[in-house]
Amino acid sequence: HADIAMYQAKEKGRDNAQFFTSDMAVAVNKKFGFEGEVLEGLAADNFFLLLQPQVDIDNTKILGLEALIRWDNPSSGIISPAEFIPMAEESDLIISIDEWVIDAVLKQLKAWQDKGLPMVPISINLSGRHLISDGLLSYISQKLNQYNIDGQYLELEITEGVFLKDIERCIEVMADLKGLGVKTSVDDFGTGYSSLSYLKRLPLNTLKIDQSFVQECDLDKEDTKICETIIHLARNLELSIVAEGVETASQASTLKQLGCDVFQGYYYYKPMSIEKIEELLSARK
Ligand code: C2E
Ligand code: MG
Ligand code: MG
Ligand code: MG
Repeated sequence: HADIAMYQAKEKGRDNAQFFTSDMAVAVNKKFGFEGEVLEGLAADNFFLLLQPQVDIDNTKILGLEALIRWDNPSSGIISPAEFIPMAEESDLIISIDEWVIDAVLKQLKAWQDKGLPMVPISINLSGRHLISDGLLSYISQKLNQYNIDGQYLELEITEGVFLKDIERCIEVMADLKGLGVKTSVDDFGTGYSSLSYLKRLPLNTLKIDQSFVQECDLDKEDTKICETIIHLARNLELSIVAEGVETASQASTLKQLGCDVFQGYYYYKPMSIEKIEELLSARK
């Protein structure tokens, strides 16, 4: 769309010489350059996934894996999602990235199925824009078919913002996802525009306690209470709970006392390469 914007700006510029400023030209080019670079990178598979395990209460089982994207940019090296996801979320570019991730994850699950490795559900971070878009359901069901993967092995992590934006549409899509067996969770729970009424209405599976509450859950009284409240809320609504960003034994033991039973964080495992995950799954088979 950047070229259209450029064209429109030029058209207007005929009547108003100051409309298309050089600042705008730089901005448009930058955006066009970024989009083009991401799309090229996706086509060339210059992106890759790390997987971070989620473990049970005694760290004896791997209950799930979260897929976290990285960009191996030929000119600047490895780029973290914090640097390109927010910009991609400003346009439908994020949908292209999300689709690449969905495809990569299901392809990976298919490879594990074929190798006879234990099947572990993988969760994907899905942008709110994509959740309420028209194409999501058909894309996912087509990919589940293509790779012959059961929907129960796919979980979508969604942040709260989109629920506020279009709750009716979210309910509809999430019910359809449930029909495919695909699970959904609220990521970074408690940091967004939380509203208890949406929790009641959405067909959700899991709440992920945000790492900002986990960080000092063992030291800060307010954070302890917040974690306790989220855990009780999840239990009362019959939702699963995952604590993310667990870095110390003390945080883990506090969370266990509060009733949390699924854990993710550096204390257990950092996000790992596919090869390392395969070793781990084989060892635990
Ligand atoms: P998130 O979904 O909340 O992911 C958790 C982030 O915390 C990840 O950062 C993870 O590497 C990091 N983390 C895990 N354990 C610990 C810990 O113990 N301590 C600390 N300090 N950090 C921990 P990452 O990989 O840099 O991803 C950042 C964010 O970028 C993600 O937050 C998610 O919102 C987004 N993101 C990542 N991959 C994707 C993707 O494939 N698609 C989309 N749309 N967004 C993604
Ligand atoms: Mg996440
Ligand atoms: Mg999170
Ligand atoms: Mg996040």
